[in-house]
Amino acid sequence: MNPPLRPFAPYLLLAAGIAGIYALQPAPVMVSAPEVVELLPPPTPTFAFPVSMALCPTLDVANAPPSDASLHIIGYTALVEVNAAVMLARAPVEQACVSSGFGARNGQTHTGIDYYNLEPVSIYAAGDGTVREAVTRADFGNMLIIDHGHGVFTRYAHLDNFDGMEVGGAVLSGQIIGVMGNTAATTIPRHLHYEILTGDWGELSGSFALTPINPVAFTGQN
Ligand SMILES: [Zn+2]
Repeated sequence: MNPPLRPFAPYLLLAAGIAGIYALQPAPVMVSAPEVVELLPPPTPTFAFPVSMALCPTLDVANAPPSDASLHIIGYTALVEVNAAVMLARAPVEQACVSSGFGARNGQTHTGIDYYNLEPVSIYAAGDGTVREAVTRADFGNMLIIDHGHGVFTRYAHLDNFDGMEVGGAVLSGQIIGVMGNTAATTIPRHLHYEILTGDWGELSGSFALTPINPVAFTGQN
């Protein structure tokens, strides 16, 4: 009978057991750390929009934005914030040069900016959004409109194809939405006609009720 020691007895036994284990153990052997199981899916590869953009050196660029001696657009940034809510790419294209700027041209208003490449390069969603329209027109060829919310839209014209885009489908910024093409009814060089648009979708005129802004010169934050 030894009541006062009873509460300590398990600890003493445990300590003795540990001491015994250590006494019996050979010298510690370094083992590799257990493999860490990655529970999160790998991040989706995101296209990095161009951080600089130049005018096409061999073309006569209408409405050319101000550029430096190497034809790079002055003050160009990869992204612009529209309506203080939506971040959009100024050039949602893999590799291209500016073949025509925004503004008055041939007695009309060029409501977007043209990005040219001889090759059929990929075109990307300029920001997160939903496909609002995917139609083929005589003037714009295969034309895709993305609704980015907050009254902000983007238009992509002359696409070679829609790469499976469907109206109502969600797209992520940097997701491939098509390929640069020349699908208008008239024969024109392959290029992307790109617009950033704000306002309310027209009941009758759809995207043409929206107000285009210059993707290159616009400084955002309005
Ligand atoms: Zn254009």
